[in-house]
Amino acid sequence: MTVGGWHAARVSDVRIQTAKARSIRLEVSAWPGSIAGQHVDLRLTAEDGYQAVRSYSLASYGPGETIELAVDEVADGEVSPYLVRELRVGDELEVKGPLGQYFVWEPRAAAPTQLIAGGSGIVPLHAMVRAATDAGLGASMRLLYSVRGLEDAIFRDELDGAHAGGVDVSWVFTRRAPAGWGGRTGRVDADVLREATWSADRQPAVFVCGPTGFVEHVSRLLVELGHDPARVRTERFGGK
Ligand SMILES: Cc1cc2nc3c(=O)[nH]c(=O)nc-3n(C[C@H](O)[C@H](O)[C@H](O)COP(=O)(O)OP(=O)(O)OC[C@H]3O[C@@H](n4cnc5c(N)ncnc54)[C@H](O)[C@@H]3O)c2cc1C
Repeated sequence: MTVGGWHAARVSDVRIQTAKARSIRLEVSAWPGSIAGQHVDLRLTAEDGYQAVRSYSLASYGPGETIELAVDEVADGEVSPYLVRELRVGDELEVKGPLGQYFVWEPRAAAPTQLIAGGSGIVPLHAMVRAATDAGLGASMRLLYSVRGLEDAIFRDELDGAHAGGVDVSWVFTRRAPAGWGGRTGRVDADVLREATWSADRQPAVFVCGPTGFVEHVSRLLVELGHDPARVRTERFGGK
C-alpha cells in the first residue's frame, strides 16, 4: 500500500555486516525501482503513534520490489540502534523514495569513476560498484574505502569479490590495520589519494560519501589535487 508517497515495506532479511552494522532487505509494495546512489526516507511508527524519519541510502539499484539498506549504529542515536539491534524479519515500516537525482551513477562507457567512502558511506557507492560490474564497466571504476579496521568494513565480502568484476578496491585503515598490511595507517591524505585514485588529468567523475567531516576533508584535498569541483559529488551522512 502507498499513502502520501510512503510505501509499506516488510523486512525480509537482516544480515550482520559488522559488530555495529546490519544490512536489511525490504519488500516494498509498488516500488518504482532506483538508480545507483539514491536513498530513501524510512519512517518508523511506535504503538503510541510517535513517528521518526531518517534517510538511508540504497545499496541496491534497478527494478524489482526488493531493496537493500545498511545501517551503522550511531551511539546514543534514536533510530539506528533500533534498526541494528531490534529489527526482525517480518517487521513492517514505511519508505519514501527513491530520493536524490544528483548523487547517482549511470553507465557511461569509458568514463572513469572514482568512489571514496568513509564508514557507512560505502552504502550508495556499493550500489554503484554493483551497477558498474553488472554493466561490464568495472574496470573504469576505482573505490577507496576508509574504515577504522577491516572488521568495520560493511559489504566486505562483496567488495573483495568486486575485484573479479574489474573494480579496483583500495583500503585506508584509520586505527587498526590487519596483520601483514603493507600500507600506512591513518586518515586519508593527499599521498593516499595520489596513490590509490584516478588522477585529475583523467577527469573522473568522483563520488565521496560518509560522515560530514570526512566528506569535507576529502573533497577539499581533491580540489587541491586539481579535480574540478563540478565533477566531485558529495553525500554527507551527518555527524562529525
Ligand atoms: C542522504 C543520507 C543517506 C544516509 N544513508 C545512511 C546509510 O546508508 N547508512 C547509515 O548508517 N546512515 C545513513 N545516513 C545517516 C542516517 O540518516 C542517520 O542520521 C543515522 O542513522 C543516525 O540516526 P539516529 O536516529 O540513530 O541518530 P540521531 O538520534 O538522529 O542523532 C544522535 C547523535 O548522532 C549524531 N549523528 C547523526 N548522524 C550521524 C552519523 N551518520 N554519524 C555520526 N553521528 C551522527 C547527531 O548529530 C546526534 O548528535 C544517511 C543520511 C543521509 C542524509
